[in-house]
Amino acid sequence: MLCTLCQGMTLPSLVDLAKRDFRSGFFPNTDYYHHHTSFQELEKCAKETGCSLCRLFVGSFASAIHDATNPYWPVPETAGTGTVTATATGSPAPARLSMLDVARTLTNSDVRIALRSRHTAIGATLQYVDMFDLLAVRLGDRLELGDPLRVPDLLLVLRVPGDIQSATDYKTLKQSPPLVDGYRIGCTTPDDHLGSAGNFKLARSWLEDCSKHHKHCSTTAHTKLPPRLPTRVIDVTCTPANIVHAVDINAGRPDQGCAEYVALSHCWGRPPIKTLLKSTTMKKYTAGLPENDLPANFRDSITVTRNMGIPYLWIDSLCIIQDSVDDWRYESVRMGELYSRATFSLLAMAGDQSGAGILKATPPPVSPSVLVPFEGSGGPVSFDVSTIFQNSENLRQLSDSAPLSTRGWCLQEVVFSARILFFGAQQVYWFCTEGGYKSAESLPDGILYPHNKYPSMASAYFGEQSYPVPTGTAGATTEAILTDFYHFIESYAQRTLTFGTDKFPAVASFAQNVERALRKSSDNPVQHDYMAGVWSSDFRRGLLFCPDGIHAPHVKQAEEKDGLYRAPSWSWAVTDAPIIFLAAQTPLGGTPNPLNAQLVSWSSQLRDPNNAFGAVYSAQLVVRGRVCRLRMSATHFIGAYTWDKDNEVGSAWFDDRPTVGGTGKLLETASGNCIVFDGNMDDGGGEDTFLCTYFAPGSSPSTGEKKTVAPDIKDNEKQEYTLLMVDLGQADKEKGLTENQDDDSDDGTDVDEFDDDDDDFGDDEDWDMTEKLIHCLILREVSKDVYGRVGLLILDWKSRSRVDNWREQTMTLV
Ligand SMILES: [Zn+2]
Ligand SMILES: [Zn+2]
Repeated sequence: MLCTLCQGMTLPSLVDLAKRDFRSGFFPNTDYYHHHTSFQELEKCAKETGCSLCRLFVGSFASAIHDATNPYWPVPETAGTGTVTATATGSPAPARLSMLDVARTLTNSDVRIALRSRHTAIGATLQYVDMFDLLAVRLGDRLELGDPLRVPDLLLVLRVPGDIQSATDYKTLKQSPPLVDGYRIGCTTPDDHLGSAGNFKLARSWLEDCSKHHKHCSTTAHTKLPPRLPTRVIDVTCTPANIVHAVDINAGRPDQGCAEYVALSHCWGRPPIKTLLKSTTMKKYTAGLPENDLPANFRDSITVTRNMGIPYLWIDSLCIIQDSVDDWRYESVRMGELYSRATFSLLAMAGDQSGAGILKATPPPVSPSVLVPFEGSGGPVSFDVSTIFQNSENLRQLSDSAPLSTRGWCLQEVVFSARILFFGAQQVYWFCTEGGYKSAESLPDGILYPHNKYPSMASAYFGEQSYPVPTGTAGATTEAILTDFYHFIESYAQRTLTFGTDKFPAVASFAQNVERALRKSSDNPVQHDYMAGVWSSDFRRGLLFCPDGIHAPHVKQAEEKDGLYRAPSWSWAVTDAPIIFLAAQTPLGGTPNPLNAQLVSWSSQLRDPNNAFGAVYSAQLVVRGRVCRLRMSATHFIGAYTWDKDNEVGSAWFDDRPTVGGTGKLLETASGNCIVFDGNMDDGGGEDTFLCTYFAPGSSPSTGEKKTVAPDIKDNEKQEYTLLMVDLGQADKEKGLTENQDDDSDDGTDVDEFDDDDDDFGDDEDWDMTEKLIHCLILREVSKDVYGRVGLLILDWKSRSRVDNWREQTMTLV
């Protein structure tokens, strides 16, 4: 039963309040539901009237440990971690207060309640809300974080009781109560038994709905045949499942080698998988797979495929001959196609190894729930109400940090899949190109789903099958595809690979399709060669990658697990650290400044001569460009130092961590970049020189001041670097630039300033003088006229006229 105050909290009244004041993630100042006048009253009501909702509130406070420094309601501690133990000295650890203890001591603890929406971004206004699925409960005025009496908002989720079992259920839910004033109230209850009949029914209905109604999601709509199968697949229609050759399927018929199939994407992890397709196991596995000996992920994916009514399944380690380099090379280039043609891709998001299992769920922390009848606009509606915690699973969080998401190969698998069935640890999710994301919780589109994929790339790729050719000028499209490529590589650089030398193969299929899309998008006969990860048509931008962090150390061949060469120093693939590409100073459509570096020729020795996108033995570029000299200070200023900003001319990033004056000892720097100064000696003459020095700005603990110092030009390491000016932008005339234009930007060290927003490209109106910069590579000579990259340097525009006098040199980059 409910008390009068809880009964008065009707859905229409809560929605009315939200309409007066709603900002996602914020508690309204005055337009909230006035519940009990104090926490004491709430407790009294729970005890005396037995109101189930009031009792749930009090119970939630009683079971949560108070922590004044945590802005959110604490996640319950699992058994064993929350026990109070004696400290080493024998005295008992300080007693930990519950939220209830603290709530009781508040002077001002009136109970305030408001609706909240999980799917909208923080700060979003009401117009973005499709569903209200939370009740936020606040006691009195909010205290600052750290205040010993601060109690965070208690968040309770409203769930429509019962499992959603099909897409039809979804649609009914969207159109029928509980709908108040156009807002859906409450999400659905996911079945955390992942292999349940209900979850399979839901997943089947997602697929059915998509196949019936979405013409852009089917990559084979135009062929009227099922998709063409990969070379080998697992036939799951028989027991035990067995490996079959695609050519043997429907032999002699028009649909020979064509059938519906599922493509698995999973983490191999450790221990190593024992059941691999090899030349020695081929015969045995063709007769029948040892289903019981397969890793749990494989067994579960067979179960999923069978339950989805699909006859074939593709798993890398069972469908590619693992001891055949040729087979692996052949298949790895076709990976993108393989995922794009599959009926759907099955993503085992949560398991960090093949033995983890896909259907073994980790249920969310148990929290008590009560069934509460709320008064709706057309009569009472019941919801299961329970506490929701910070760590409750969603697809956004899975795609950011789940084990599968950290795997390099997975990225291109996701990009190429038209349909994806995701298994998390707590629920199932779906994606299809036309229908977008769905979850078993039926959350509307919004921040709890991953960012959009690579739109230009996907439309260029899927455009071959079903999409209209992208409109707009050819240049703009090429630019958009390249932007997708750079974003993809940046995102890829955040991920880890089992073998570093896999770095090129893992994106080979993506790169191959980028090449195809570039060729199609452009009318002009520009050649887009893929030179160890860098496009010949856009090589300046390709060379200008920068550590997205402090450094991006080059991985030496000796450090590779397989001891093989990976990439030239000028390729993004040379490092395992996160990197970003700087914005194009020279958009593809413009005329490059004649001072910009020119590509004279290039060559690479491919491991597989038939795969221009795969691993390499070596690669060289021959470039012609303007060069000058760079020296490194012997003394660096680590501590409470600053420098005269007027003397600063730019910033430099060294890929490897710097060492102290050739001692081999690593130099501790606060930030990764050096400050660049004019390095010409007073006596004049000689080559134009810059000097770079590390500063770790800070203030003296005693005085709170910074000491301003100027590095001494003569105090430099004997090591000499060559600066190669790569990109200055477009031809000066074309841009109407004046050479002595003053650069106002006061601090060019913030990498965010170079954020390569799509809008920056090809839009002359937006060309802001203060963003004009001179992009250079820092090189070290390895032999006569042969150089390797060691970093990147950006000069402010005030050094523009100096570039005219730099020496022109033709050099080989390795
Ligand atoms: Zn009540
Ligand atoms: Zn669809």
